[in-house]
Amino acid sequence: MSTTVLGIIWGLAILAWVAIRMPRRRKAKKRKVVAHQRSLWERTALGLCILGLFVFPFAYFLSGWPAGANYRPSIAQSLLGVAALGAFLWVFYLAHKQLADNWSVTLEVRENHTLVQEGLYRYVRHPMYSSFWLWGLGQALIVPNMAAGLAGIASVALLYFTRVNKEEDMMRNQFGQDYETYSQKTGRIIPKLTAFQR
Ligand code: SAH
Repeated sequence: MSTTVLGIIWGLAILAWVAIRMPRRRKAKKRKVVAHQRSLWERTALGLCILGLFVFPFAYFLSGWPAGANYRPSIAQSLLGVAALGAFLWVFYLAHKQLADNWSVTLEVRENHTLVQEGLYRYVRHPMYSSFWLWGLGQALIVPNMAAGLAGIASVALLYFTRVNKEEDMMRNQFGQDYETYSQKTGRIIPKLTAFQR
């Protein structure tokens, strides 16, 4: 596939992402926050995700920079990338729908926060982060440039590994034994095999 076609696919995925997230963002702002674990470091990791998942690949598709890292991907690689982006959007959409008003861009507990354990959350505790890994993977496969392609997954890794323990501690503080029991039944981003036998 040509770089232009790949750029259009990437751009459409970003537009779909915005269309799913923006209404949620507006709604979430209306619900009061009662506890949080926000930090400068978390904000920085989120900012790096915007750079790695959006700014860098966008600049690449516009300007071709950094040209030294360009390569020609096989059609199989590009198709796999499209499939990963499709899976990302589907999981991202479902996770938002199921988490509903309990969602926050940062680590926050909202008024009347409920512990969601249904839908994708029945199998994994962090389906939205599973979707981000798929996003990073999709970008790595469809952006035909080593640097701009891998920037996404590198920033997702940074956000995930610095955030997930803090988030789980916050959930444990809020929901106590319920979260403990829930954690034993679920995987973090990949379902436990035993989950399907329930
Ligand atoms: N880590 C989850 C949610 C990401 S949004 C996922 O990947 O799907 C981050 C917010 O979700 C956090 O501020 C936390 O308050 C909330 N959250 C995380 N897991 C939750 C759950 N199982 N039920 C309700 N809220 C949850």
